[in-house]
Amino acid sequence: MNCIKCGETIPEGRLKALPGAKTCVNCSGVKMKGVVTVMKGEGDHTWIETIHLDHEDHQKYMEQEHKTKIPREEE
Ligand SMILES: [Zn+2]
Repeated sequence: MNCIKCGETIPEGRLKALPGAKTCVNCSGVKMKGVVTVMKGEGDHTWIETIHLDHEDHQKYMEQEHKTKIPREEE
């Protein structure tokens, strides 16, 4: 059983969990939106902004977040 979108093989586990699944995790995830909250502004003028991202953008965002938040244990 292959994904109808990208042609990748759909893992057996996914087919067991979702019988009749026609797309792989990546492709089915496109519909899922990731939500990130970011703090904007400075000092007394801060607010939380909620940004809705599609799956791909959300992953990119998380990767970037991760890169900028790597703890520097050496210092
Ligand atoms: Zn796919």
